[in-house]
Amino acid sequence: MPIFIRIGTANSSLYPTHCAMFGGAFFEKLTRLRTTSEVNNCHSDSHLVSFNHTEIEVTTATMFALTLTAELTGVTNLRPTDSEDTPFWYTFKVQCTSCRETHPKPIAVSRFEQNEMSGSRGEANFVWKCKNCKRESSATIMAAPTPYEQTEPAKPQKVIQFDCRGLEFTEFIPEGEWLAEGVDTNFKFTAIDLTDGEWYDYDEKAGEEVSIKELQWEINRA
Ligand SMILES: [Zn+2]
Repeated sequence: MPIFIRIGTANSSLYPTHCAMFGGAFFEKLTRLRTTSEVNNCHSDSHLVSFNHTEIEVTTATMFALTLTAELTGVTNLRPTDSEDTPFWYTFKVQCTSCRETHPKPIAVSRFEQNEMSGSRGEANFVWKCKNCKRESSATIMAAPTPYEQTEPAKPQKVIQFDCRGLEFTEFIPEGEWLAEGVDTNFKFTAIDLTDGEWYDYDEKAGEEVSIKELQWEINRA
């Protein structure tokens, strides 16, 4: 029987830690709930749940946000080129929260790609089986990216939010193409490359040089 469990997820107000979803049905009282950190002092984001005398390990979802702080001159609405026709591949370094093993290579996630999780646990944008501890973990991007607005001084703004189960993205690598518009002219800039940490161009309508500098990426719990 497929078992779906939601515990302390992004919707934790709907599913507080003493409740769970099993096979689509909602159970209010579990016979037992304890975090695995009580058992082995690690992967504190997973729980052991017992229901009908069977103990099941559940990995809870943690919501993270990718935040950008950047100095934009003459341009605004900086965002990745990310549509169903041209999906953006968000590149991250990833770490297993069970054993703290880091994936040897950066990985790329698209919000339009669904991958099957084992054991009928549904789908996620990214599914990874850790080579070290063999645990499967996953991540899903929650919504379309939020354009970064030009402000003076520059302030941190969330670009995307994602839900992680059993893994953490530890670093963002801004590979791929970005878009922006001239602040006053609405002039469209495409194929912006941010991998050098700075970008310069010329707004023909304004007759002025534009730039994106001092890029700082951060990943924090949302
Ligand atoms: Zn691991």
